[in-house]
Amino acid sequence: METIALANLIDGTLRAPGGGAYLDVFEPATGKVSARCPDSDANDIQAAVAAAERAAPAWAALSASERARHLHRLADAVETRLDELAREESRDSGKPVSLARSVDIPRAVANLRFFAEAITQWSGESHIDARATNITLRQPLGVVGCISPWNLPLYLFTWKIAPALAAGNAVVAKPSEITPFTAFRLSELAIECGLPPGVLNIVHGLGPKVGQAIVEHPKIKAVSFTGSTRTGASIAETAAKQFKKVSLEMGGKNPAIVFADADLSDANLDTIVRSGFSNQGEICLCGSRLLVEHSIYDEFRRRYLEKVKALKVGDPNDDSSDLGALVSKSHFEKVMACIVRAKQEGGKILAGGGAVELSGRCADGWFVAPTVIESLPQDCATNREEIFGPVVTLIPFNGEDEAIAIANGTDYGLAASLWTRDLARAQRVAASIEFGIVWVNCWMLRDLRTPFGGVKHSGMGREGGVDALRFFTEPKNVCISR
Ligand code: NAD
Repeated sequence: METIALANLIDGTLRAPGGGAYLDVFEPATGKVSARCPDSDANDIQAAVAAAERAAPAWAALSASERARHLHRLADAVETRLDELAREESRDSGKPVSLARSVDIPRAVANLRFFAEAITQWSGESHIDARATNITLRQPLGVVGCISPWNLPLYLFTWKIAPALAAGNAVVAKPSEITPFTAFRLSELAIECGLPPGVLNIVHGLGPKVGQAIVEHPKIKAVSFTGSTRTGASIAETAAKQFKKVSLEMGGKNPAIVFADADLSDANLDTIVRSGFSNQGEICLCGSRLLVEHSIYDEFRRRYLEKVKALKVGDPNDDSSDLGALVSKSHFEKVMACIVRAKQEGGKILAGGGAVELSGRCADGWFVAPTVIESLPQDCATNREEIFGPVVTLIPFNGEDEAIAIANGTDYGLAASLWTRDLARAQRVAASIEFGIVWVNCWMLRDLRTPFGGVKHSGMGREGGVDALRFFTEPKNVCISR
């Protein structure tokens, strides 16, 4: 396969990294090198920040509807290339092309369109009394940084840059070095669409080099980050020294809680299965702890395992594959080690439990079988730490209080799903569990207007809707005396 060298987008042009170094990008399904990603450094970030600083005032001065037009043009360009981008996203990340085609790329389009529209509808605040009229301006910050992970590459990249741009900021963004391809394509599309030079800069490279340079740069006023809790902690520490605004979306260890009175129709059971194994379990929102009420445990387990065992792990290019490859060799090894640890902790493997060997093109790919484990103590590492792969633990419980205690028994607090017909119970439990997002009788049903994010070690701040626009602007109160 031809290995193409990707480039940075700086000041409206595609540029090789100043240092001339590149990183190999691997196709997870084959284990082969598929592209070369710029191994940029602080000098490239410096050039990007300088370009962004030059571009920011004119971009901020455009009317909201003019900025919206630019974002819609970019959305149109992404939409026109949906199939091609889906194939590229799948090649970089190992996810099934069908998933990238139905979820990742359409959502990238939706992100751009949503914030294009949101900015034209965003109203200001004023507070009026007998003495004065207070008008709260929401001014763009200037230059902001966006750093995104590998699991939903273009989806999460656009989820950050769209609100940043809509609010009138110039952006220096870094996609994951493991899955840089579609962000590179977005660079080409931004040029093609006539986005003003310097408004969006995309610099590729390693986190500790390029990401760190973004966080450290004094001219970058805010950093929106999605990734692991460990990296988030390091970013928070660096940013704190400059009192820099940060939004951190981090790891999760999410529970799906199934009460005995749940409507376990086939469709709902399919959603529960999907909530564990979609994108090979590499979604921060995946429910990796499946809590099931004792009285239905045996029957639920039987039906659940039947469905999990029917999932097909296969070539991501094959539309019949439910799961593709894990994103990298090191991540594959980590997930495999987690399965070994689960066994050492006393876990009983009910499904999967190891690698899947495929033949032909995918013989050297990083595939793991959907794995279900039971009989683990609630407080073992497997049940507390994020695995971020196709591994779900089954945990029986008795009654609401125990379900709440188990659900809260981790440092993470991103998302939970509850399955019950009793909406009063759903509201009680939702109020008592420590998670930023609670789905009732559904999973990953997203309305982009709602606050998105986690508590505890899963997040700081919220993305989505007005929260994202607030993050990317600074309020300034102007008090006019009467
Ligand atoms: P990661 O933390 O390794 O990397 C994320 C991004 O940060 C990458 O672009 C990386 O290059 C960069 N980075 C790494 N070190 C850095 C540093 N010192 N300074 C600045 N940037 C740095 O995470 P990952 O492995 O790419 O992604 C998987 C993780 O992301 C999982 O923990 C998952 O739960 C989390 N995630 C969270 C959400 C959410 O919305 N909460 C969504 C998706 C993924």
